[in-house]
Amino acid sequence: MKHLVAGNWKMNHTSREAAEFARRLIEKMKPRPSADVWIFPPFMLIQAMVKAFEKSDVRIGGQNMHHEKKGAFTGEVSADQLLDAGAKAVIIGHSERRQIFQETDAQVNLKVKAALAAGLAPVMCVGETLAERESGRTSDVVLSQLRAGLKSIDRKSVATLEIAYEPVWAIGTGRTATPAQAAEVHALVRKELREILGDAGAGIRILYGGSVKPDNAKDLMSRPDVNGCLVGGASLDADSFAGIIFGAQ
Ligand code: PEP
Repeated sequence: MKHLVAGNWKMNHTSREAAEFARRLIEKMKPRPSADVWIFPPFMLIQAMVKAFEKSDVRIGGQNMHHEKKGAFTGEVSADQLLDAGAKAVIIGHSERRQIFQETDAQVNLKVKAALAAGLAPVMCVGETLAERESGRTSDVVLSQLRAGLKSIDRKSVATLEIAYEPVWAIGTGRTATPAQAAEVHALVRKELREILGDAGAGIRILYGGSVKPDNAKDLMSRPDVNGCLVGGASLDADSFAGIIFGAQ
């Protein structure tokens, strides 16, 4: 399975900084990497980044979307609007959305279905908090988020679905799950995906996210069922992002 290295910029970068990032990353990606590379900039930078990367294989996506097609939802963006801007993918249920914006599993489920129906590749995030890990609830939490997020999903529709396992305690903290800890949860996620989706569950990439850096990316992505990574902080700088991309060879 081809690895996927995805960069989540969160609420970072101005248009000038993004253009400079694109120029430098394009330079670094000669020769072309063997991994797929996706970048998730803030909404207003999507069109410019689609243009900046148009001659490369890099895909651009949104960091969130609303499940409705259109209407009176001030501040929200639909799947069709993301597609119209040139996005091909969307992150759904990132832990910051769940924790800071109280996004529920039920909303995540609606968004995943709406993204798939519209033709956007959803990257659905799951992961436990530190308290949940320390109380031995990691697998319960991760598997219940997975089941709820994929509830009543049509198995035939999931070809473009990606899952990201992101332990909340490892996001932006500099504390990475060890490759063994990541592999343990990825194996559980794979088993559950097969149970929920049958054969289709075997082909879905499971990304690891949480303080991935150039010096730990290779080891993480060499583990079974760690099919790539979702990178926050280290995706903001073209040098460190390229270091991770080429660690996925
Ligand atoms: C993320 O936001 O998905 C993430 C993993 O962040 P960081 O790499 O900064 O921990």
